[in-house]
Amino acid sequence: MDKELDDRLVEEFPNLYRNRYGDPMYTCMVWGFPGNGWFQLIYDLSAKLEKLILQIPEPERELYCAAQCKEKFGGLRFYMDGATDEMQALIREAENLSWHICEECGAKGERRGGGWIKVLCDEHAKPKPVSGAPKQVGLQDLHVVLGIGAEETDDGDT
Ligand SMILES: [Zn+2]
Repeated sequence: MDKELDDRLVEEFPNLYRNRYGDPMYTCMVWGFPGNGWFQLIYDLSAKLEKLILQIPEPERELYCAAQCKEKFGGLRFYMDGATDEMQALIREAENLSWHICEECGAKGERRGGGWIKVLCDEHAKPKPVSGAPKQVGLQDLHVVLGIGAEETDDGDT
């Protein structure tokens, strides 16, 4: 996701994203957000979650925040450190909606196979013109690789 959009989420929902620039040892939020196409989806979810967090009394409030927001197997995955049932229900709802939204541009999309599984609209599912250069690995792909790797090593760390 572009920095401008990323910054907007962090600025508007400071409680939810309190660990956006936290210690990488303790939070996966440092890896940022998935594609621009999901900005509105994540924004709407974030607004609802931030509101619920603000209803929690001050001392416990900081136990509730986003832990990771990424794309996995083509769908949105949103994890929190501490979440009420109501928060979990909102997250499930947004994750389900992501299956129908192009991760690149936000248009109506569907799940595409091959290589990386992604939700893309018709336009973004077209093969990209090859200009002789080797296939570029986008930042988003890198996030996915890092995300999966870290999850697998979770158990070994103390
Ligand atoms: Zn698209």
